[in-house]
Amino acid sequence: MSEPLSTLRVAIVGAGPSGFFAAEALQKAAPGIRIDLLDRLPTPFGLVRGGVAPDHPKIKSVTRVYDRIATQPGFRFLGHVEVGSDVTIEALRAAYDAVILANGARTDRPLGIPGEQLAGSHAATEFVGWYNGHPDYAEATFDLGQRAVAVVGLGNVAMDVTRVLAKSPDVLATTDLAAHALAALRDSQVRTVHVIGRRGPVQAACTTPELRELGELEGVDVLVDPRDLDLDPISAAHLASSEDRTAEKNLQVLREWAERGSTGATRRIVFHFNASPVELLGDDRVTGLRVVRNRLEDDGQGGVRAVPTDVVETLEVGLVFRSVGYRGVPIDGVPFDARRGTIPNAAGRVLDADGEPIAGLYTAGWIKRGPSGVIGTNKSCAAETVASLIADVAAGQVGRGAGDPDALLAELDARGVRRTDWADWQRLDAEEQARGAAAGRPREKITEISAMLRFLQKEI
Ligand code: NAP
Repeated sequence: MSEPLSTLRVAIVGAGPSGFFAAEALQKAAPGIRIDLLDRLPTPFGLVRGGVAPDHPKIKSVTRVYDRIATQPGFRFLGHVEVGSDVTIEALRAAYDAVILANGARTDRPLGIPGEQLAGSHAATEFVGWYNGHPDYAEATFDLGQRAVAVVGLGNVAMDVTRVLAKSPDVLATTDLAAHALAALRDSQVRTVHVIGRRGPVQAACTTPELRELGELEGVDVLVDPRDLDLDPISAAHLASSEDRTAEKNLQVLREWAERGSTGATRRIVFHFNASPVELLGDDRVTGLRVVRNRLEDDGQGGVRAVPTDVVETLEVGLVFRSVGYRGVPIDGVPFDARRGTIPNAAGRVLDADGEPIAGLYTAGWIKRGPSGVIGTNKSCAAETVASLIADVAAGQVGRGAGDPDALLAELDARGVRRTDWADWQRLDAEEQARGAAAGRPREKITEISAMLRFLQKEI
């Protein structure tokens, strides 16, 4: 154990995967190191709780690792404390010897096309938050009375949203999907989900298990036009030279669907490749989506880009979910790359406007590198950041200062910031599981912050 490192008091902002993995890396390097993990929600786990699909419980089981991290000596969870509003970054940096920003990418990327503001046009992130019981979206509504909807994008989030829209509610009822979403999905009239990718099947961003699951849904046909699977020369060359087998495996799945065709199932998922949305149609709400056919061309940088042709078609849809990526938001007082939606950094060291590291300020996860990779990717990402921190401590650039985290907490308490700790979370967790058990489900989430706090108040 490095002696100076173990004396540090570290604040980590964001209790999602990268925040927990940063804590784990610190604990491994210096057991007992004092870590406060802050989150704006009263509950931990970030996207594992609010993003991972409810019918993917195995992915969520990573929380067992986080539980172990949270019960190590020196660790505290400071829930329901928002950095930027409840506490400034300056106050945090003054109180702690090092601060790691792991606050993720909480908003979405827009398409930037006309009609996007119409009712019935939504970010996939809103829908995901809503069906996962995220408090930000507890009040959201989606008009599932529509027969046809479109999901724009070919990433894993698009696959999740498509699957939840098409899946039998009776099957979803066995998951921890939010109760309000389950009720709405039981009444859903959605029969057709159009999935729209601006490039071809070889460029699809989704992984094969997530794609394949769509074809395994009961009562659902997946329709693929075989002509979309006739590869253009650039895609064929990419497929032949790529070491990653994902595209080849995806193509195999799509070919099986193209051969299978329609079985007359009541619900259908229709793939559209090489098609970009250009306008959402409608007067006061979405009635259609205009898409332009693309052709693919070499982008000169080893990739393939979509170039619009003059072939345009209109899909009659009443709901559009754009699923074209998450996006980070700035924290007051922290440098921000507005184009990328990330915090400028070098190996996790936050950089100022001159490109110089800001002593004691670090970043990890999606806000560091952008919204990519699976949960495990955040482990190596956080480890890189913590390695930078450890090197800075060894070089004498970061060390034990005069700040006092407990004084900061006392000040928050005096200001009436109602924070939660790990024991609070454990009570909420037990309550949600008990409510779930009563309904024959793994968990029934409490979806409003006020209800969480009321429950905790009663319990004390
Ligand atoms: P993503 O994987 O980056 O996919 C974004 C998709 O949006 C791509 O298909 C992209 O197409 C498309 N797109 C971007 N801009 C567009 C535009 N202007 N018009 C049309 N399409 C556009 O992002 P994501 O689906 O949000 O997922 C984020 C990360 O979480 C990914 O790493 C994902 O694998 C991960 N995730 C994993 C799971 C899982 O493991 N089960 C579940 C959910 C999410 P281009 O390729 O042409 O840019």
